[in-house]
Amino acid sequence: MIHIALHFTVPLLVALAFYRSHWRNATVIMVVTMIVDVDHLLADPIYDPDRCSIGFHPLHTAPAIVIYAVLFVLPLIVVRENDSKSVRSAVRVLHLVGLGLLIHMALDWIDCR
Ligand SMILES: [Zn+2]
Repeated sequence: MIHIALHFTVPLLVALAFYRSHWRNATVIMVVTMIVDVDHLLADPIYDPDRCSIGFHPLHTAPAIVIYAVLFVLPLIVVRENDSKSVRSAVRVLHLVGLGLLIHMALDWIDCR
């Protein structure tokens, strides 16, 4: 239960610390990335408290985590000041999706310890 609560509280705390001007949207975007656990539906049993998600479920493997890191970092590199507001907004969402997924993977990894 603590693990599930952390999937809500850590994104909230990160949003409050680093995205204060739009912390509500940032929190929602990061929490919504929990949908990544849809890959548990491919496993049998779907939920096993003794199983480590990292490296087992397809969206919790190293190649997927690399993509999440790129989603997080790339928007910081490619966004330009003269980009339109809608482009900057889309880029910010991608950045937060990447961050939410990285937080999710970190929390799942801690749960494996
Ligand atoms: Zn997970």
